[in-house]
Amino acid sequence: MYKITTIPGDGIGNEVMKPTVEILETLDAQFDFIEKKAGKACYDECGTNLPDDTIESARNSDSILFGAVTSIPQQKSAIVTLRRMLDLYVNQRPIKSYTNSNIDFTIIRENSEGLYSHMETLDGDVATATRKITHNGCERIINYAFDYAKKVDRNKVTAVHKANVLPTTDGIFKDTFYNIAADYKNIESNDFYIDATAMYLIMQPEDFDVIVTTNLFGDILSDEAAGLVGTLGLLPSANIGKNNGLFEPVHGSAPDIAGQNKANPIAMILSAALMLEFLDLKEDAKNIQNAVEQTIVESKIKTPDMGGSNTTQQMADAILHKL
Ligand code: ATP
Repeated sequence: MYKITTIPGDGIGNEVMKPTVEILETLDAQFDFIEKKAGKACYDECGTNLPDDTIESARNSDSILFGAVTSIPQQKSAIVTLRRMLDLYVNQRPIKSYTNSNIDFTIIRENSEGLYSHMETLDGDVATATRKITHNGCERIINYAFDYAKKVDRNKVTAVHKANVLPTTDGIFKDTFYNIAADYKNIESNDFYIDATAMYLIMQPEDFDVIVTTNLFGDILSDEAAGLVGTLGLLPSANIGKNNGLFEPVHGSAPDIAGQNKANPIAMILSAALMLEFLDLKEDAKNIQNAVEQTIVESKIKTPDMGGSNTTQQMADAILHKL
């Protein structure tokens, strides 16, 4: 029995979480779902956007499924706090287009250090931001990338950096990459500079399989790659730490379409498939991914973001039918 904390959050977070849980409940694997609150509605009701019992439940679960939260001015984001508290150092985004078979790769971004170390100073007219890179941080993200490639039968891992301009920080990243690559003889490894990668993603996306990179570069590349797919409604993500993982769609709470039953549930459903991969329920994960792919390619069901007029529930039902 897997203990899963679900945090639907705000807006379309609720609408996409419901059918996702329904799909998971049809699998043979047994899940104990515990629903907890976070986000703006929670703040309005209980005075905090991340209650202690939500944190406690997340800590003690095998995984967390997170919908989306609406940000509140002056308040720390619930999702950013959760990522930090649970030391979720991996941010993973599969980028797959169902209309262009050349686009099918995963970006694995270091999520805990780099330029996001919150070390900025101002001295007179000199402002400085510290880019913190550690051996340990590089090792754990690069090991994760190779282990992941092996687990899901991917053939190549590409390190992305700027070691020509940042020879010390990115030098550590690049050296660690090739030290670890030597242990994975069946997986091809190579490296590119970040600027060249930004171009290659558009010109030759088929050359990529798994990309591993530091925090800011990963942030930028992830959004560039999302642009290749078109709609946010199809993009899942995972945040993974040593003890558990949090799985969430890339999109936010989308207040503009909330309550209209037209949110695309696919990003959330594919996030749940990433959770199944993480829990080593590889076959269930593959089945869900295939059902989504077949629905997109073979059925006429399309939510408005995909150019159709079907509802959230109709899309979820079509996927369930394929499953
Ligand atoms: P937030 O502040 O919570 O991030 P946002 O509206 O700024 O909300 P998103 O929620 O990511 O950012 O939405 C960006 C745009 O993409 C919106 O127009 C939204 O309607 C659309 N969108 C996001 N997710 C989906 C989805 N699952 N299905 C359909 N459209 C979506």
